Amino acid sequence: MSGFFSKKETESKTRPEGKKYSCTACGLFKDAETPKMQIQGKFRSQILVIGDFPNSKEDAAGKLWIDHKGDILKSTLQECGINLYKDCYSLNSVNCTPHLGLSEKLDKHKIACCRKVIVSKVIEQYKPKLIITLGTYALYSVIGNRWKKDFDDIYKWRGFTIPDRDLNCWICPTFSPAWISSGNENQDFELIFKQDIKRAVDKLFQPLPPLHIPRINVIEDLSIIDKFETITEMAAFDYEATGLKPYNKKQEILTASIAVSIDNVFVFKMPKTEEQLLPFINFLKNKNIKKVAANMKYEDTWSKVKLKTTVRGWIHDTMLAAHQLDNRPGVTGLKFQVYVNFGVVDYDEEVAPHLKAPDDNPNSLNKLKEFMESSPENENKVLTYNAWDSIWEYRLALVQMETINNSIKPF
Ligand code: SF4
Repeated sequence: MSGFFSKKETESKTRPEGKKYSCTACGLFKDAETPKMQIQGKFRSQILVIGDFPNSKEDAAGKLWIDHKGDILKSTLQECGINLYKDCYSLNSVNCTPHLGLSEKLDKHKIACCRKVIVSKVIEQYKPKLIITLGTYALYSVIGNRWKKDFDDIYKWRGFTIPDRDLNCWICPTFSPAWISSGNENQDFELIFKQDIKRAVDKLFQPLPPLHIPRINVIEDLSIIDKFETITEMAAFDYEATGLKPYNKKQEILTASIAVSIDNVFVFKMPKTEEQLLPFINFLKNKNIKKVAANMKYEDTWSKVKLKTTVRGWIHDTMLAAHQLDNRPGVTGLKFQVYVNFGVVDYDEEVAPHLKAPDDNPNSLNKLKEFMESSPENENKVLTYNAWDSIWEYRLALVQMETINNSIKPF
């Protein structure tokens, strides 16, 4: 299924030219019987439920969840011990009815306006423990200003329980009950909806997992790598390079990082001499240190082509494991997995623009080298980003290994 919002629509870091984020810029209040609907409920359990938009019936009554979609939501929450009105606050991604025709989509600018005018303020003021977002619009309302990569639609996001660090609460996306109540999809979707809501409610009394800040060791002398076998059985490693494919002679590995635990990582610029590089080559060849990577064929190929070394001891690829655990498209990338598992969004923000080549040719060079060499500060940004990649790979590998092990039942 194609995404609801294209990459182009969501990757812009600036507001659309000439547009402001306000009720005046949005304009939906003009045609609403109940304009700027306020939050409803008592919030006893500190749950914020965000829907897509008030429909005509809700607009006329000035009250949310009064039709079949509300019945589905109420009964599903009730099965989990949650009373929609007493335990939650409810609001929508836009809080004036948009009077959409059947095939019309909600303008993302209107969602951005209402995020600024209402949604963000409610989250900031009431600090929910759990936000349940119902449908694509609702999720876009909560994360669309922070998630700069492919947003796609709710199919990709539903079912994850995200420990969002910026908002300091769980974000649990699922389908809109309005969409389920339309009866266009098969009954499995109602079952999935119920499972998603239960998974969300289960998080209510769980604190967000702790987020450790790793020790990032920037090294020039690589001899310490010789000692890794004595301190760890597993290491995640990652390259930052000038492109996607290593076959162009101008391509080079700029930096490498090795995480030896969940909070200890070594990172370095690639040395110029074979002698200086030798501890790293020995690390790659050492089958006793089990290797982790995200999309291991990248590190494997670059090691072969540029370092003339076959990596030994591969044990885990976070991308393959993500696909094994969840075969939906668009969910296997490291940045997506980091957000849905650890709640950290866009940690690559400062470096990512320089990783893009000027065209689609995989042999083209990106601008990372120029960026690195432009200042010591930028060099440090690349090293830090590279270090974080390995740390996330290490942490993600542990989570995935545990999940896979728990899902394998003995005969
Ligand atoms: S939908 Fe939100 S931003 Fe738009 S007019 Fe209504 S309250 Fe204002």
